[in-house]
Amino acid sequence: MKHQHFTIATLGSHSALQILKGAKDEGFKTLLVVTKHTEPFYRRFTFIDDFIVLRALGDVISIEKSLRKRNVILIPHGSFVAYLGKVGNKRLTVPYYGNKKVLDWEADRTLQRRWLTRAGIHQPKQYRPDESIRFPVIVKSFGAAGGSGYFIAANKAGLDKKIKAMKQHKYVIQQYVVGVTCYLHYFYSPLTKSVELMSIDRRYETNADALGRIPLTYQTPSLDPSFVVVGNSPLVLRESLLPEVLAMAERIVSASQKLIDPRGLFGPFCLETIITPDQKFYAMEISCRIVAGTNLFIEGSPYTWLTYNEPMSTGRRIAREIKTAINKNKLALLTG
Ligand code: AMP
Ligand code: AMP
Repeated sequence: MKHQHFTIATLGSHSALQILKGAKDEGFKTLLVVTKHTEPFYRRFTFIDDFIVLRALGDVISIEKSLRKRNVILIPHGSFVAYLGKVGNKRLTVPYYGNKKVLDWEADRTLQRRWLTRAGIHQPKQYRPDESIRFPVIVKSFGAAGGSGYFIAANKAGLDKKIKAMKQHKYVIQQYVVGVTCYLHYFYSPLTKSVELMSIDRRYETNADALGRIPLTYQTPSLDPSFVVVGNSPLVLRESLLPEVLAMAERIVSASQKLIDPRGLFGPFCLETIITPDQKFYAMEISCRIVAGTNLFIEGSPYTWLTYNEPMSTGRRIAREIKTAINKNKLALLTG
């Protein structure tokens, strides 16, 4: 079957526009799952061929039959985890781009740390509550996402008080790394067996990114930083940092093939880092799918321009990968 007979579909949120624009540019049919509330917005875009309207995006499991009929390949993004959870994602039986086994390692902070350590990636120090701690620290509850539900503590008394007030019992205490946050967007192709640097962003997190605008004399002790993301801005790095940027991703892919399963991590992923004055990257987290920061680069980034000489977003790169696999009869390599 030719690629024109397949439909690339996703949920209407997060990076859906980028994914479907890329799919259309590569010659696929496109389908978007929306709610009544978001349908009018998405109908503005002519590169979306077809819509399915649901009461809630998480109900996508109930329409699998009709997705199958249309030869759908689902492209997961950040909202898949937010609305379906890990279990919901695993229950989907329509072709789903990516390796679902990676979900277990990504979702569990302990497993994720083991994976990144095996790949030789620096990470913020992690403390037990009873050990001697160097402050400040950031406390992250398990299950918190997108920076909400985190807090910072400057000393032991503050830490104990805030932990007591927390409803969650599973959390990690991490060294607060002071440096430039930097979100590295990659793509690993098992077809070419190479890692590509797609683009880089920084996040606007409110109100952490706004506190610096208030002089210290006007700040009150009750002003707690929050890390809820509201937008993104582009970044290019000192060129001398790029060899390490690519080497880190290669080690992560290679470690995933040993730890997770032979297919390991492939497709788009993002390493969320902080760069310290000694130019070391400390990884806070890895996201194993397309991240919303790539929406800055629907026309491509400075880095993809160097390799592709044509506009190449992460969404379009996914579609091109799937098209190449279909033409080589290797689609099964890419779906879970
Ligand atoms: P949403 O589709 O807006 O409900 O977001 C789904 C998930 O993606 C949430 O965990 C968000 O925190 C995350 N997310 C959404 N937009 C962005 C963004 N621009 N940058 C980083 N993360 C995002
Ligand atoms: P995450 O959920 O890991 O993406 O973290 C959300 C945000 O919290 C990040 O984008 C950073 O701004 C901040 N953050 C997380 N971990 C650390 C850390 N160890 N040191 C400093 N800032 C952090």
